[in-house]
Amino acid sequence: MKIFIDFDDVLFNTKDFLFDIEDIFKKNGISEKIFRRYYKDGSEKKGDEKVRKYNPKEQIKRIKAAGFETKKAEKEISRLLKHTSKYIFADGIAFLKKLKEEELYIVSFGEKRFQGEKIKNSGIEKYFKKILIVDVSKAVGIKKFLSKKNIEPGEALIFLDDRVKFLRDIKKSYPGMVTFHMVREEGRFSDSKNKYCDFQVKDFNEVIKFIEE
Ligand SMILES: [Mg+2]
Repeated sequence: MKIFIDFDDVLFNTKDFLFDIEDIFKKNGISEKIFRRYYKDGSEKKGDEKVRKYNPKEQIKRIKAAGFETKKAEKEISRLLKHTSKYIFADGIAFLKKLKEEELYIVSFGEKRFQGEKIKNSGIEKYFKKILIVDVSKAVGIKKFLSKKNIEPGEALIFLDDRVKFLRDIKKSYPGMVTFHMVREEGRFSDSKNKYCDFQVKDFNEVIKFIEE
């Protein structure tokens, strides 16, 4: 069995994490207005697929370049990024432990350095055969990855995400992939289930029930 698992809002409480990042800025004299203005690099053209991926360290650089004092915020953000394990959902850890004999993969979409640091420092890397960070499409990333892998006849392929657009892309590329749409109470998004979602779950405890059946 190969299980591809999303990171943000599925394994990781991204909502709390981003709240804490914003709080660091606020506490260090950077207003919400400034925070928003420099949140993402808006220099790329609209329609560019690689456009606008968040990285707080890059955000700080932009705020600094605009003449604001950022030293303390910079230090605190670095510290926060080193301690991301507290944002991992407990049911996620239990799931990873229970299924550690299976081939587990993270498939995360976003800015590579920031995502990489967030995932690495969360302490769950050891459960995964590989961490895939993609910045265009998860379907393309998985396809490329699986083209080099051996898939046993009848082997179950499972994909888990909170975003319906990713589930749709995967299902179109791999109709045989079993898709789980996870909508957590703590998540930032609550996409509506569609025909590309085989199962809808609210946490990993529910995923286990389906897998064990
Ligand atoms: Mg997600």
